[in-house]
Amino acid sequence: MLVAYVKRETAYMKRQGRMNRLALYLLVVTSILGVCLAHAAEDVPKNIILFIGDGMGVSQVTAGKITKGTLNLERFKVVGLLTTFAHNALVTDSAAAGTALATGFKTVNGAISVSPDGRPIKTIVEYAEAAEKSTGIAVSCSVTHATPACFLAHVDNRSKDALIAEHIASSGIDVLFGGGAAWFLPMSAKGSKRQDEKNLATHMAKRMKVIGSVNEFQSLNDVDAVAGFFAEEQPGGVSERKPSLPELTRRAIIILSKNKNGFFLMVEGSQIDWGGHAKDMNYIISEMVDFDNAVGVGLDFAKQNPQTLVVATADHETSGFAIHDGSVDVRKVTTVGHTSGGHTAAMVPVFAYGPGSSAFAGIADNTSIGRIIIGYLQKANEKPPED
Ligand code: MG
Ligand code: ZN
Repeated sequence: MLVAYVKRETAYMKRQGRMNRLALYLLVVTSILGVCLAHAAEDVPKNIILFIGDGMGVSQVTAGKITKGTLNLERFKVVGLLTTFAHNALVTDSAAAGTALATGFKTVNGAISVSPDGRPIKTIVEYAEAAEKSTGIAVSCSVTHATPACFLAHVDNRSKDALIAEHIASSGIDVLFGGGAAWFLPMSAKGSKRQDEKNLATHMAKRMKVIGSVNEFQSLNDVDAVAGFFAEEQPGGVSERKPSLPELTRRAIIILSKNKNGFFLMVEGSQIDWGGHAKDMNYIISEMVDFDNAVGVGLDFAKQNPQTLVVATADHETSGFAIHDGSVDVRKVTTVGHTSGGHTAAMVPVFAYGPGSSAFAGIADNTSIGRIIIGYLQKANEKPPED
């Protein structure tokens, strides 16, 4: 069509003796088009790292800053706020919020990446796989827990850990770090929580290295795919947890970044939320600082690898946490309050760094996170970035 148009116009202009002007038009049009395309390509990240602080509201971040002095979160150039409500409730749980982040769609509380009527919704991880990127999950809870489950499973209720484990085992995930070994072993095995004889760990071992100890983690050499379970169920708090979340993040990035098409990695600081449920200030702060250290690992990589987008956010706020007294001079929070032992509807912060980060500025809904990242992955799928 364009060729026919140009031919017709050329003939006309020749008749008019205005060939020079046509050449000028074409030059201007192709220049504008070229600038637009170059700009679009520049904004599509090759690697995407999404950090989720479960239950990390603005007060949790503030308490972390008072204690630590300077947070890695302060290295981000773009900051925004997100509304977190679920499809059926003002106050979300981690499943509905995780679904919003992982798919870009609202669902009901308890649902794991399915619509309110139970239909599966494609996740960021599935879009990343379609774009031939490597994918990873590193969390400080069982990998079957709501937040990671939303990236790897499609199940109507978050309490179905055994079924979620089956979805995870048959997913295409390349790096999986967390707790929850009990859901991947047959019921006859020691420590299993399954009600059947399915051995999901053996099934996964067909396509990836499966490890279950800190020693194996430390001696991990050149692997392309690995599942590491470091607790039968939930890993302990920061002081007991080994490997630490920053270590898991570092190792995951080393493995995933071998893919020349890039990668998607989700890292969750799972227990900031549990500190809130326990109304335990020290638990909240220690988990907040650990999460921030993991974020630092991601930002260090992004600094060295400028085609990397890093996004850090939360699924919801937990406990209506408020700081009433303390001191920035001695880096101590002394008096706090909690309005409840549950979640609240308060907006949560979002931080972004790297190519495509400007889309995360301002006030938006949590579904925008999934939608923006999926948009980048679809663009990457159209035209894989060169290395
Ligand atoms: Mg969580
Ligand atoms: Zn919670």
